[in-house]
Amino acid sequence: MTASSIEALAENTASALRTAEALLEGHFLLSSGRHAGRYVQCAKLLQYPELAAQVCAQLAAAVRQARAEEQPFDVVIGPAMGAVTFGYELARAFGVRGLFAERAAEGGFVLRRGFQVEAGERVLVAEDVVTTGKSAGEVVHMLRAMGVQNISAAAIVNRSGSANPFGDIPFYRAMDLEVPSWPAAQCPLCADPQVGPAIKPGSRPGLN
Ligand code: ZN
Repeated sequence: MTASSIEALAENTASALRTAEALLEGHFLLSSGRHAGRYVQCAKLLQYPELAAQVCAQLAAAVRQARAEEQPFDVVIGPAMGAVTFGYELARAFGVRGLFAERAAEGGFVLRRGFQVEAGERVLVAEDVVTTGKSAGEVVHMLRAMGVQNISAAAIVNRSGSANPFGDIPFYRAMDLEVPSWPAAQCPLCADPQVGPAIKPGSRPGLN
C-alpha cells in the first residue's frame, strides 16, 4: 500500500465513524477507571449497513493491494460479540465465509453452531477495535490448536498504540487512533475548570 492510500483509508474511516457519532470527544470515565478525552464505539458505525459495507470494502481493497492477492483468505472469523457484525461484513467484502467464535465457560474461545475451520484454510481474524488484542489473540490461539497455520488479523480501529499488537501474524487496520488516558488523580481534563466531570460513555442520551 502506498502512504497516500493508507492515509485515504484512515481519513475515510474516521469520517464514517464521525458520521455515525462513533468517535466521541469529551471527558470519559473508562471501564478501567482511567479518564480519557476520546471514546470510540464501533458498534455505532456498524449499526449502519451502508457505512459498514463502505469501510469493510475499502479495508478489503487495501489488504488485497498489500498482499498483491485477489483472494488472500478462505474464511473470516472474529470473537463474539464485538466482531460479529464486522466479521460478517468483512467476509462479504472478501467473498468468503464469515464465522464467529464464542467465549468458553472454562476460558478462551470455541466454535459452536456447527462452524468449522479446516487446518489448511487461510484465516483472517477480525476484531472491530483492537485495544490490547486479547480477545482476537485468544481466537488465534484456538485456531492454532486446531492446526491452522495461515492466520492474519484485521481491525477497523487500532488503538493499541502499537503497529502490530499480534507480533508474529500480519495485521491490517483501517485506521490508528491514539486515545491518551490517565489515572483520575492525574487527569488534565479534571484539572480544567472549563470541562465538566468525566462521564461513562453511554450514560447520557446520545452517547454510547
Ligand atoms: Zn478526568
